[in-house]
Amino acid sequence: MGPQGFPGGGAGDFYSGGGMSMDDIFSMFGDIFGGRRGGSAFSGATGGSPRRRQRRGSDLRIRIKMTLEEIAKGVDKTLKVPTYVKCEHCDGTGAKNGTAFATCNTCHGTGVVTSVEQSFLGMQHVQSVCPTCEGTGKVITERCTYCNGEGVQRKDEQISFHVPAGVQDGQTLTVKGRGNAPRGGGVNGDLLVVIEEIKHPQLIRDGNDVIYNLMLDIPTATLGGSAEVPTITGRARLNIAPGTQPGKILRMRGKGLPSMDGSPTGDELINVMVYIPEKLSEAEKSAIESLRNSPNMQPTEAEKNKIFSKLNHLFE
Ligand SMILES: [Zn+2]
Ligand SMILES: [Zn+2]
Repeated sequence: MGPQGFPGGGAGDFYSGGGMSMDDIFSMFGDIFGGRRGGSAFSGATGGSPRRRQRRGSDLRIRIKMTLEEIAKGVDKTLKVPTYVKCEHCDGTGAKNGTAFATCNTCHGTGVVTSVEQSFLGMQHVQSVCPTCEGTGKVITERCTYCNGEGVQRKDEQISFHVPAGVQDGQTLTVKGRGNAPRGGGVNGDLLVVIEEIKHPQLIRDGNDVIYNLMLDIPTATLGGSAEVPTITGRARLNIAPGTQPGKILRMRGKGLPSMDGSPTGDELINVMVYIPEKLSEAEKSAIESLRNSPNMQPTEAEKNKIFSKLNHLFE
């Protein structure tokens, strides 16, 4: 046996045990002897026996659209979802009245069948799920006529769930047990709710912050004034200081979105821009022209550096 037979250790490691479980040892043998890792040949030897299979219905997936306002507060939703539910006439069994059963002849009601396989360890008893009854131990003698033996029926289910505040676009919420019922009885699948965020017409989401691009006119940016800005819940009025530079970020603390992980609520960031007009009347042109050589229109080196240092998010 070459060293490649025991990846990560020599033969000594193997015989000393080294905390290896039987499964590990068998899987090592499996690797050596043709790669039957955890194969059925070992299921009898390791003491595992197949359980009666619990059937599970399929998951349902729906998308819901949410506005930023709804995401900020969280919402309770009630929706009609077309779902396969347990047939009420046979209690999901598919058998007439839920009682028209007989014991499975293949497995005699145990749900498992035993076969004997030859392996390198000798003859092995292997248990597997009964193919006739799929592990239930019972076979239907007369089908339920309402569901034609399927055990399920199509129904619009009214489903209510809560969407917590702060969800992200594309996030999936799981509503346990509200998916489809399986054929022949068992546990329901889940309802998966995928969040789709409706873009706000003016606010841009950035994690839990929201950004608003505020366009000031030259007189307001120069002389100061006020500006109205949209928020998630309504509107807010901001004071604009004289000499407000384009590129300045005004922060409205706590006006963003709540977080789902317990970190603080986000902010609304106001990204200040200043509108430079492209079309001007002759009178406007001459008014601006008259300012061209006016001393305060040109920044000093010190003023420039002061502005740049405040806008260091752009200049660093
Ligand atoms: Zn059976
Ligand atoms: Zn039925």
